[in-house]
Amino acid sequence: MRPIYLDNHATTPVDYRVLDAMLPYFKDKFGNASSIDHTYGNEAMKAVNTAKEQIASIINADPEEIIFTSGATESNNLALIGTAEALKEKGNHIITSVIEHKAVLDPCKELERKGFDISYIPVNKKGDLDIELLKNSITNKTILISIMAANNEIGKINPIEKIGEIAKKHNIIFHTDATQAFGHIPLDVTKIDVNLMSASAHKIYGPKGVGILYSRRGFKPKPILFGGGQQRNIRSGTLNVPSIVGFGKAAEIAGKEMKKSYERLSKLRDKLYQHLSAQVDVEVNGSFENRLPHNLSLYIKGIEAKALINEVKDKVALSAGSACTTDDVKPSHVLMGLGYDEQRAFSTIRFGLGRLTTDEDINFTIKTLIEAIKRLQNL
Ligand code: PMP
Repeated sequence: MRPIYLDNHATTPVDYRVLDAMLPYFKDKFGNASSIDHTYGNEAMKAVNTAKEQIASIINADPEEIIFTSGATESNNLALIGTAEALKEKGNHIITSVIEHKAVLDPCKELERKGFDISYIPVNKKGDLDIELLKNSITNKTILISIMAANNEIGKINPIEKIGEIAKKHNIIFHTDATQAFGHIPLDVTKIDVNLMSASAHKIYGPKGVGILYSRRGFKPKPILFGGGQQRNIRSGTLNVPSIVGFGKAAEIAGKEMKKSYERLSKLRDKLYQHLSAQVDVEVNGSFENRLPHNLSLYIKGIEAKALINEVKDKVALSAGSACTTDDVKPSHVLMGLGYDEQRAFSTIRFGLGRLTTDEDINFTIKTLIEAIKRLQNL
């Protein structure tokens, strides 16, 4: 038996319906979406347009505002570096938060090396951003605010409507890294004053290596890749048609199943928490409110997360934090950002439930974890 997979924030399995939609574009329908003078190119172009519509529809955007990328890392780089380049005459100040993904923090570091000034807004132990400080940090040099829609470790959902309003009032571009939120919770760009939004197919049961940057009309980030001038010259490069088709199908399914999935997964997540907390000494990282339905980040007192993950690895696949930093021996910057100490950060398990998680899986996980924790405590 394969271990039960509870690491859906790192990635999700490709839905078979998505795979079926993609397969023809690896076979007969192999055309280049820019070669529209013949049937092959035309069918590829049409497939890309359908994917744009499917993706735009779940955030209420115009399909023409969807730019395909190689994933949310590239989308974030394009949003941050492309906006900084486009607006550097206007100002050199950017606002972000301490709990962003590295795919936002590292481009920010690169921009600091280039002379930009970055304000990192702190959060409290519940994971709430200091909105007053964010407002007070705005200067006449502020060109961009980048705040994630939901955090990849603690699942915290940020008040992006409010942040969008603040940005709009001050005529500042607002980017949100929606990689963990897109397709999981409702996001509507007609209600959120957001200029740029990043998302990735592999967090919603689509393929890895394809993402989008939603780019609202009226502002264009400068390109960070130079070449054939595809996608209105914002992102050069031959379009990855099979993956784009997969992303479109994944978005369509996520949109249709969002409400049902939200209810089902939050119930399973709550059950997992209730049973674990009744039998072992645990605390939730961040607050339970405003949390992604499929997320649980738990501090398990007196247990080293890596030891527990190793102890159960043949039965349940779990994560200690963000997959992108698991080679790193440093404690999670998100948990440290919340004001927790290193010991708590190293004793934290992140659970990411998903479309394939069943009630039996959760029962089995509860039993397996409780036994393993007791075994480790007795050592
Ligand atoms: N931002 C967030 C919040 C993420 O969780 C991830 C993926 N771990 C990324 C960006 C990077 O996305 P991708 O893997 O598509 O490059």
